[in-house]
Amino acid sequence: MTNRLRVAIVGGGPGGLMLARLLQRRGGDVTVFERDAHAGERPQGGSLDLHAETGQRAMRLAGLEAAFQAAARPEDQGDRIYDEHGTLLFDRDGANDDRPEIDRTALRQILLDALNPGTVRWGSRIGKITPLSSSEVDVNNNGATERFDAVVGADGAWSRVRPLLTGTAPRYEGVTMVEFGYGAVTHLHVDALVGGGKMFAVGDNRVLIAQRNGHGHIRGYAGLRMPEAAARPWMATAPDGVCAMLREAFAAWAPSLTALIDVKAFIAVRPLYALPIGHGWTSRAGLTLLGDAAHLMSPFSGEGVNLALADAVDLADALASDHGWGAVEDYEAAMLARAAIAAEGASAGLNSVLSPHGVDAVLDHYRERVAARSYPTTPENT
Ligand SMILES: Cc1cc2nc3c(=O)[nH]c(=O)nc-3n(C[C@H](O)[C@H](O)[C@H](O)COP(=O)(O)OP(=O)(O)OC[C@H]3O[C@@H](n4cnc5c(N)ncnc54)[C@H](O)[C@@H]3O)c2cc1C
Repeated sequence: MTNRLRVAIVGGGPGGLMLARLLQRRGGDVTVFERDAHAGERPQGGSLDLHAETGQRAMRLAGLEAAFQAAARPEDQGDRIYDEHGTLLFDRDGANDDRPEIDRTALRQILLDALNPGTVRWGSRIGKITPLSSSEVDVNNNGATERFDAVVGADGAWSRVRPLLTGTAPRYEGVTMVEFGYGAVTHLHVDALVGGGKMFAVGDNRVLIAQRNGHGHIRGYAGLRMPEAAARPWMATAPDGVCAMLREAFAAWAPSLTALIDVKAFIAVRPLYALPIGHGWTSRAGLTLLGDAAHLMSPFSGEGVNLALADAVDLADALASDHGWGAVEDYEAAMLARAAIAAEGASAGLNSVLSPHGVDAVLDHYRERVAARSYPTTPENT
């Protein structure tokens, strides 16, 4: 890297850490500010599948393909679909697919291990960022100010960098998910339901999801439609109260499925938010965004982390080029266009899984994928 920009990345999630790695490989001067006190401060969440042209490509360009393959779980790519009566309608073994799963914690650790010591400043919750007329930017970290040539907001859904570029904020998607964590050994009924990857049970505006993670863990989600004002009391309710409300909401469902709503397995209530599809901003020298900070969408496209990693690849190229901020403007245009397509898919996915029409649209979608991509099929698919 010849231009030696001083780059600050706010947020040490997959997108921010990948950008730091790619810039350092070119000799870049980069600092990551992360609000977590240390890498193990909080569980990083569930399993992610990395796609060949985006997530896997980024790992390859970062020189981390072997580490990814060592931690990835290609055997966990299967899909099962049930109706609300507990009838298994679709069961596909995905072991030959090309979207291996990896635990989010494992992915973050691979990226952290690849950075120069001291790159990540833990315990740095950035609140104040001040663009200067020189197009340099001051970052205030716990009362101390440092100056950078470029600040990248990789700080996720509630980015503190994004408001400096646009007044657009995430909007509630009308759906709230309650998250659960199980052990394959301690929750044998969940282990039997989930099959070789993940399962969806779909009914009238409701869904139950469970997905294999590494180390014998399974993560589950109960999703239902509710107004934003109704979601807040759920977030303030104790776990046994949340599970009682869920049991009422899923009262008409088969007991084999409602066994997933287990009070001892409760993790959190998560209302889903998204930025408007196709939103953007006028480029401003010294400040840009990547990943969820730029294009938060519901998880129903399965693209979020893949886009964050692809953004990091493209932004690293732009920051390392000799074409000044114009290269970053080009990055922003291409990144936002790519994200808008994925956001359309995420919105369509959410509205198909949580619809008054139940399981039919979801089943059609999976059967179309089988037909289009020649998935290996099981008797249930055909
Ligand atoms: C329930 C759920 C399931 C999902 N499933 C999938 C899936 O299967 N596949 C998929 O591709 N995507 C999935 N996603 C989306 C995916 O998790 C995100 O798109 C991805 O993590 C975005 O990465 P990121 O680096 O942009 O942001 P994040 O992962 O959100 O990282 C942001 C980082 O910034 C830090 N931070 C925030 N504010 C500050 C601050 N002020 N100062 C310093 N640091 C700060 C945070 O601590 C965090 O470490 C899912 C999301 C959810 C909620």
